[in-house]
Amino acid sequence: MAKDELMNYEKALEMFEVVIGLEVHVELNTKTKMFCGCRNEFGDEPNTNVCPICIALPGSLPAVNRKAIESSIAIGLALDCEIAPNGRFARKNYFYPDLAKNFQTSQYDEPIAFEGHLDVELPSGTKHTVQIERAHMEEDAGKLTHIGGSTGRIQGAEYSLVDYNRAGVPLVEIVTKPVYGAGAEAPELAAAYVRYVREIVKGLGVSDAKMERGNVRCDANVSLRPHGQEKLGTRTETKNVNSLRSIERAVRYEIQRQAALLAKGTAIIQETRHWHEDKGATSSGRPKSDADDYRYFPEPDLVPVQPSKAWIEEIRATLPEKPADRRKRVQAEWGFADLEFRDVINAGLMDQIDETVAAGAKPQAARKWWTGELARIANSQDKDVTDLEISGAYVAELAGLVESGKLNDRMAREVLTYVLAGEGSPAEIVAARGLEVVSDDGALIAAIDEALAKQPAVLDAIREGRMQAAGAVIGAVMQAMKGSADAGRVRELLIEKANAS
Ligand SMILES: [Zn+2]
Repeated sequence: MAKDELMNYEKALEMFEVVIGLEVHVELNTKTKMFCGCRNEFGDEPNTNVCPICIALPGSLPAVNRKAIESSIAIGLALDCEIAPNGRFARKNYFYPDLAKNFQTSQYDEPIAFEGHLDVELPSGTKHTVQIERAHMEEDAGKLTHIGGSTGRIQGAEYSLVDYNRAGVPLVEIVTKPVYGAGAEAPELAAAYVRYVREIVKGLGVSDAKMERGNVRCDANVSLRPHGQEKLGTRTETKNVNSLRSIERAVRYEIQRQAALLAKGTAIIQETRHWHEDKGATSSGRPKSDADDYRYFPEPDLVPVQPSKAWIEEIRATLPEKPADRRKRVQAEWGFADLEFRDVINAGLMDQIDETVAAGAKPQAARKWWTGELARIANSQDKDVTDLEISGAYVAELAGLVESGKLNDRMAREVLTYVLAGEGSPAEIVAARGLEVVSDDGALIAAIDEALAKQPAVLDAIREGRMQAAGAVIGAVMQAMKGSADAGRVRELLIEKANAS
């Protein structure tokens, strides 16, 4: 739908109530796959991590990965779910070349975790409790790459390549109940919810949780209904949205698109949709009925999963604190004002700042670097600041160099660009490039004398108390020393000189 055909967002909300539902797939970072001993590793040569089980050769038999069960239980507990004492795997039958088995081993009517909830706070400060319907285990499919054609999609492609390294990688799919009542903030709530889920799985250490690598993917369901109507409207499901920003944009777009159609009396088609970040729009995928016939049946090759109460309690005892509790604690520890802290949260920078502070930086310095210069650089590269290739330890080191006076702000920013270019740690770069601030009096006095030779009147001006005259000499010294002079020390020396002569 063209941009000008969309309904104005405010008008859409006046006419309709928005209901969303979110399905988040979390790829677990177990060493091996869900049902075989193949390595679970992103980025290996295609089709090197495969075996008869994950490419489904006849006669091969799967066995469940205990660690994957443990991680799934941890996710369920962190979402305040009940853990099923007895859960079976099921075969979800469909034919597609990314899964050589012709079925996906999943869980159907007996998910490992169910009936949970997650408290989420929006950028505006509004709080919501999102009800979780279930979290179930399943395996990922392989990766298809469509060659030829312009879009990278199967339409128009000349041929497709399949990589089964990802086939059989353990996934947990977390499904919410319908989420009501977010109103105009439904898109923000969708993104915030996924941010919290990502934080939880990262905090648990059960997933690398990198959205750009597809470790966390979201399917966003959106439907509209006239205010006061009880029956839910027809929903669409926008698949595999892989950034927080895209989730927010995709939900907003669907609200405006569906509202425009409904206002014209056109029915919404229940279907999957694809999000196009470049166009800022969704497009039609495949029709999807509520009763898609996957002919689920219990997996006969796997025994039921029956975690003991003792094991569940053992896992519960290792859970990290809840995101909301952690927020309260660190804000107090760091001494951030509400607004400062909200900026940090909204930029998704809590872990980075935590790491930077743990490496020895002062909280305010850590905040300043991450939400200031680093955010600016990320923005200029159209990236998320959390995706920059720099560790908290390096940021702490840089802040330390500024604090000790070895670098001034300008030089620190320069060093930062070299760190991001992979030249090493800030201290290594300072040493290799000879970037330290010059506070050696001998070198500074020589530069001051040279500058004074060109503007001899400055000393008189300073003696008469016109301190602004010092600026011209400080500027000339900075320029002569290519910005590496310690400006504070230059000023001191200049004043000393004026008073002594
Ligand atoms: Zn395998």
